[in-house]
Amino acid sequence: MRVEHLDRKEKSTHYLARELAEIIRVDPELFDFIDRYVFDGLWYWNLQKPEDEWMSPQFWLTLGYAPEEKKHLAAEWQDIIDPDDLLVAQQNFEQHCKDPGHPYDQIVRYTHQSGETVWLRCRGFAIRDAEGVATRMLGIHTNVSRLKHIEERYKKIIATMDRVYADLRVALDESEQLFETIPDAILQVDQDGRIVKSNSRATEMFGYSASHLQELTVEDLVPDAIRIKHSKLRHRFQDAPEVREMGNDAMNLSAVTKSGKEIFVDIRLSPYNTKYGLHTIAVVRDITERRKMVSRLKAQEEEEQKLFKLSSTDSMTGVFNRGYFLELANRAHHQGERYDHNFCVMMLDVDNFKSINDRFGHAEGDRALTQIGNILKNSVRKTDIIGRVGGEEFAIVLPESSIDQGVVLADKILYNIEDARMHSDDPDGLGGCPTLSIGLVAKGDENETFNELLYRADQLLYKAKHTGKAKVVY
Ligand code: GH3
Ligand code: MG
Ligand code: MG
Repeated sequence: MRVEHLDRKEKSTHYLARELAEIIRVDPELFDFIDRYVFDGLWYWNLQKPEDEWMSPQFWLTLGYAPEEKKHLAAEWQDIIDPDDLLVAQQNFEQHCKDPGHPYDQIVRYTHQSGETVWLRCRGFAIRDAEGVATRMLGIHTNVSRLKHIEERYKKIIATMDRVYADLRVALDESEQLFETIPDAILQVDQDGRIVKSNSRATEMFGYSASHLQELTVEDLVPDAIRIKHSKLRHRFQDAPEVREMGNDAMNLSAVTKSGKEIFVDIRLSPYNTKYGLHTIAVVRDITERRKMVSRLKAQEEEEQKLFKLSSTDSMTGVFNRGYFLELANRAHHQGERYDHNFCVMMLDVDNFKSINDRFGHAEGDRALTQIGNILKNSVRKTDIIGRVGGEEFAIVLPESSIDQGVVLADKILYNIEDARMHSDDPDGLGGCPTLSIGLVAKGDENETFNELLYRADQLLYKAKHTGKAKVVY
């Protein structure tokens, strides 16, 4: 910055300037006024006797010292000025002495008596003799500390802002990377359903370019049939935004790609606050393949269940076949033994079944067996196990049942059979539904096997046959 010296000629031409110069010359108070209020220090230096330097009172007041304690010597201030700044001032001084066009003007730091730094703009000009040699130097100080403090604070703010901005930039880059790293398609959707941002997985999944996606609404990615419903559901989400899955039946959500292909998707929604309002982040996963696999597995499972039923159930009566019945019955028997719980077994045999076949035919016999199977199933508890153990023989295992409970069930079965006979329209009155004989036993001593138990029941059944049939013996 160059000091703009007033042109001496111009100064002397204006009468007010001349007048002011004259007043200052004759009235020392005016000089004091200028020193005190216009400048923050005035100094006048004898270059021919450099130790002599006059400093105005304001010079010292600005630096926190009592003027009367200070001598008018250049040495007085040299240890409270910053050495680096002093060097700059000295260089400028030397240049200015050689060349009046070079300004003596710099900001220097002084140490205030309180220890704080005072920033002073120090300007001056050399007064020269007839040969142009500098003999005196007049200087003024302007306190620019406040300005410097503001500047320092401003620099700090700028530095902080730079740091925050850099951090933000990094965070933004990272979130951008995250957006791209996630293996699912991500769509950011505004309040009107417009897609405002998407990742590259989304462009792959839907077949649109990123810019094309931004011209679409999410409804454009939904099959025609559910477009209107989707828009309603979207508004419902915006009214109650929360992180959640989309749709109730997750496996049945579908979307359409640019080529019109329908894909099955799994979608997670999260509300996302932006300065433009509430947006929604939809994370979309293509589950078409997974869905195919699941339905394949389901079909496989159904097939297995069918096979299991076939292998475990008697197809005519719907009760367990002999093999599976014995397996389940043995298992239940073990359980009953281990916990010493009640356990009953009954053997049932259709009475005079041969004559049914003979009189009504084999098919009618089959139908009668089916009916008996149904009656048995409807008579027992869920935990009871029924098996067809022979041609017209059944067995029932009653876990957790006492002999009394077993008798109640046997009577119930006999009653239900009787009821079916009464309601049958058979002209003979016997009905397609023949009677049953039942042998019932409860679990015996702990060493008895299930087969032995079954044998005992069979013997009581035999007894029932020989004492009139259509009854229970226990
Ligand atoms: P009882 O009262 O002593 O038991 O006489 P019953 O005639 O029932 O006994 P028997 O053991 O002499 O005859 C059983 C008959 O059951 C013989 C057989 O033809 C018939 N039968 C066995 N399995 C089936 C079947 O699946 N369907 C039909 N229709 N008849 C069967
Ligand atoms: Mg028999
Ligand atoms: Mg029989």
